[in-house]
Amino acid sequence: MSYAIKFHQTGGPEVLQREEIVVGDPGAGQVRIRQEAVGLNFIDVYYRKGLYPTSLPSGLGTEGSGVVEAVGDDVYFLKPGDRVAYAGGPLGAYASERIMPADKLIKLPDDIGFDMAASMMLQGLTAEYLLRRTYPVKAGDNVLIHAAAGGVGQIALQWAKALGAFVVATAGGPEKVALVKSLGADVVIDYKADDFVAATREATKGAGVQVVYDGVGKDTFMGSLDCLAPRGYMVSYGNASGAVPAIEPLLLSQKGSLFLTRPTLGSYTSTRAEMAEAAEALFEIVLAGKVRVGASNRYPLADVALAHRDLEARKTTGSIILVP
Ligand code: NDP
Repeated sequence: MSYAIKFHQTGGPEVLQREEIVVGDPGAGQVRIRQEAVGLNFIDVYYRKGLYPTSLPSGLGTEGSGVVEAVGDDVYFLKPGDRVAYAGGPLGAYASERIMPADKLIKLPDDIGFDMAASMMLQGLTAEYLLRRTYPVKAGDNVLIHAAAGGVGQIALQWAKALGAFVVATAGGPEKVALVKSLGADVVIDYKADDFVAATREATKGAGVQVVYDGVGKDTFMGSLDCLAPRGYMVSYGNASGAVPAIEPLLLSQKGSLFLTRPTLGSYTSTRAEMAEAAEALFEIVLAGKVRVGASNRYPLADVALAHRDLEARKTTGSIILVP
C-alpha cells in the first residue's frame, strides 16, 4: 500500500502523520512516480508551522526523485521507466508514490543517482539562481554566505568558489566552521561566538562584500546590511531564525545605496525552459566535480518528525533525504 506523510493542523513535528493513500492514475499532463528518495528542506518547516499558509489537511515536501510508473494524456517527453527528479510543484513529496505535473519533472542523467538528486535539486537549483541570476557572482567579488554548513549553504559556497569569488562564510559552532573551511571558504566566522559584521569587514580589509546571501533571516538581516559595500546586494532568501521585520527604504540609502531582494526559486524557474536550463547548469557543475553534493543525513520517511526536529535544532549539516 502507498503511504504519505500528512498534517491536519499546523504545529510541531508531532503533527506529521503517516497515512495510507490510493494514488490512482495520472490525468492529462500528469505522471505517477514511484519515489526512491525525498528531499527535506527548511521550507517544509515553514509550511508545517503555518508561517507559509496552505489549506489543511495537507501533504508536505517539494523535492523528490524516482521512476515514472505511468503517464497521462498529452505527456510526450516522459515514459514509464524514466528516472526523474523535481524541486517545486504541489506539496506532497513526503510519499512513497505520487502524481506530479509532468512539466515540473527533469530527466536524470545516468551518472546522478536518486539519493544525490533528492539531496540537491531544490538546494542546488536555489544556489544556481542566487549566484548566477539574482546577483551574478564574478571572479574577484567579495561574497558573504550565511549558514554555509547547511544544505543551500554548502552548495552556494562551493559554487561561488568555482566562479572565482572571495568567500566569507558563517556557521554556528566549531565543528561546522571546520566543515565549511574544508569546503574551500576563504574566511569562516563562527557567528554564534563572534561578531560577524566586524569579522567580515576585517576579512575584506574594510571594503565590505558585493553580495550577502542570507537564508537565516531575522537574526542576521540587519548585520548583513552592514557587511555590504556601497551599492551591494542584500539577497534575503530565507527565514531559518524567523521572518525579517519590515524596514524603511530610506535605510538602504543610508547604508550605501543598497539593493534588497527577497527571491524565491519558483519565480526563477517559472517556465519549463528556465527550469531545464537551471538543472542543466547544476548537473554540469556537479558532474565536473566542482560542487560536491550528497545527503549528509538520511532518515526513513517514517522518521520524518525526528528529521524535522534535528533540522530545527541546527543539528544537521548539508542536505537531508527521507527514504520511503
Ligand atoms: P539549512 O540546512 O541551511 O538549515 C538551516 C540552517 O540555518 C541551520 O543549520 C543553522 O545553521 C542556520 N540557522 C541559524 N539560525 C537558526 C535558527 N534559529 N533555527 C534554525 N536554523 C538556524 O536549510 P536549507 O538548506 O534547507 O535552507 C536554508 C535557507 O534557505 C532556509 O532559510 C530556507 O528557507 C531557504 N531557502 C530559500 C529558497 C528560496 O528560493 N528563497 C529555496 C530553498 C531554501 P548554523 O547552525 O550554522 O547557524
